[in-house]
Amino acid sequence: MLGMRIASFGVAAVACALLSAPCLAQQPPNFVIIFADDLGYGDLGCYGNRHIRTPNLDRMAAEGLRLTSFYAQNVCGPSRAALLTGCYPIRVGEPGNTKGAHTILHPQETTIAEVLAAKGYVSGLVGKWHLAGPGAHERGPGTGPYKRELMPAQQGFDYFYGTPAHNGVTREPDPKRWKTELMRGHEVLESPTDLSLLTKRYTEEAIRFLRTHREQPFFLYLAHTMPHVPLGASSEFAGRSPRGLYGDVIEELDWSVGEVLAALRDLELDERTLVVFTSDNGPWIEGHLGDHGGSAAPLRGFKMSTWEGGLRVPGIFWWPGQIRPGQESDELASTLDLLPTFAAIAGAPLPGRRPLDGVNLWPWLSGRASESPRQDFLYFAFTHLQAVRDRRWKLVLPRPSDPPWSSWYGRMIDAVEAPELYDLHFDWSESRDVSEQRGDIVERLMGVVQRVRARLGDYDRIGSEVRFFDVGPRRPKMHAWKN
Ligand code: MG
Repeated sequence: MLGMRIASFGVAAVACALLSAPCLAQQPPNFVIIFADDLGYGDLGCYGNRHIRTPNLDRMAAEGLRLTSFYAQNVCGPSRAALLTGCYPIRVGEPGNTKGAHTILHPQETTIAEVLAAKGYVSGLVGKWHLAGPGAHERGPGTGPYKRELMPAQQGFDYFYGTPAHNGVTREPDPKRWKTELMRGHEVLESPTDLSLLTKRYTEEAIRFLRTHREQPFFLYLAHTMPHVPLGASSEFAGRSPRGLYGDVIEELDWSVGEVLAALRDLELDERTLVVFTSDNGPWIEGHLGDHGGSAAPLRGFKMSTWEGGLRVPGIFWWPGQIRPGQESDELASTLDLLPTFAAIAGAPLPGRRPLDGVNLWPWLSGRASESPRQDFLYFAFTHLQAVRDRRWKLVLPRPSDPPWSSWYGRMIDAVEAPELYDLHFDWSESRDVSEQRGDIVERLMGVVQRVRARLGDYDRIGSEVRFFDVGPRRPKMHAWKN
């Protein structure tokens, strides 16, 4: 995008604030991830939204680093798997060697919480899990019961308060089609839970977690259920925003972020805590949802697509004293990078000998390196590799509309007739295909595609590095498309 400010990460400017190794050894820092659900790239004031008021997130960005090329995945479940394992979802092992449109995380996978446990961290999930499958949903209305071995306690989390899955697929709550329970640990507290109270309840629980664990290193994963449909906002926020209920929901999330950061300050933990705010995917924009979806502006596409609006999300990094305030950057980074970054900061070993897709961002975030170590990003829809980008160029691969191997959300995927190439430094909205002019770039990125297909696979093949933990056929339903 022309005219945007790309911050340079001057080494001298932050040298005084760098963590030293002895400091790390003495006092391991804390980590907080605030993960919104289906919040779009263009939904926050600091990302250009003029209708939704987000003063707390705007302040967080002003006090830290705001990223404009930060990537999650294109849909909820896979995005959570990617964040927690540092791997593209196609690489991640699932029970029975299957591959779900919403990833079911195999107990042998290693999460951020498990990595940090090796250094004595306590980990808490407040909010949505969505890595244990749909429960009984497919047998009728409602979810659960869930297999204990797939729940947060078996993936490294000492504490869980929230919902095991998402909250629905309709504009308004419809318990006949879907209801979500609120749980603490393995105990169901409320079913269906009151969606209008979730953000408020999560915030209270999150702050309680911070207060309880202020004396030990912690990892708090605050995974909001909102603004995934059906929406809900508490009485303090409902009816306030000119953007309607969607705006109310975002403004309550913004309030929540402000409460968490204020609690860290009150507890004198702010200079010992890295806080990351982002979203799991782009906004869900589909006819039956009306105005209950967000905005990806100025990006093309939406949740479930692999145009930029499907995966590029707000990414704000905040750590007073360690991350220089007032920065913006268009360097590449991803939720994939949080696991290796946290591990490096905490001095924790990475999981076994498994390959990761994430890279350690800390030398760059802290100002010691001028460029992000992430050189490329891959765009998968389920197991389908649809595009690759490097620092500047994005190659979009040919595909049919509604590909038969793309699970239920294929309806959100449009046709691409021939390879298309976009210059993302200048054409954020992917409006000008320059593949004919830059055949050299197309050829080079096609080489990347071939290497990725060999290592990670594609909808029609299994890659050499993909993980399977169980006995039996690998991806046995690979060709049972659309079932
Ligand atoms: Mg989502």
